[in-house]
Amino acid sequence: MPTVYSLSCTDCDNAKLFGFIQVPFMVLDDGQRRNLPHPGEDRAAKHQTGLSVRQLRKLGRIGRRNAFTCERCLDFQLFADDEVVDSCAACGHTTVLCLGDLVGKRESHLKCAKCRTGSLVLAATGRS
Ligand SMILES: [Zn+2]
Ligand SMILES: [Zn+2]
Repeated sequence: MPTVYSLSCTDCDNAKLFGFIQVPFMVLDDGQRRNLPHPGEDRAAKHQTGLSVRQLRKLGRIGRRNAFTCERCLDFQLFADDEVVDSCAACGHTTVLCLGDLVGKRESHLKCAKCRTGSLVLAATGRS
């Protein structure tokens, strides 16, 4: 069972839940990246590449995408370290923040759109 993360406001009840903050992907034969589903990673890998996750990892064909959230609309998006994160795909806002960097911080740059006074902080809330 994955850890569930909650992005919640310090001042009001505004909150959003995330099931993960990182997602592994595999590189297909044609170079495309495809997120690996969980559970069932091996089955998906074999089906699409003919190789197991372990074999793909040896070949350097397994990577991770980090979860980001838009500072304005809180849309959830995934990007790998070498993928350009320049703006929110949903609203075009140019500040998207890596959720991994927010874990455990008491304050963040994410202002609550609901009460406009609090800031949104990320915490692991246990397992689903
Ligand atoms: Zn946005
Ligand atoms: Zn709030």
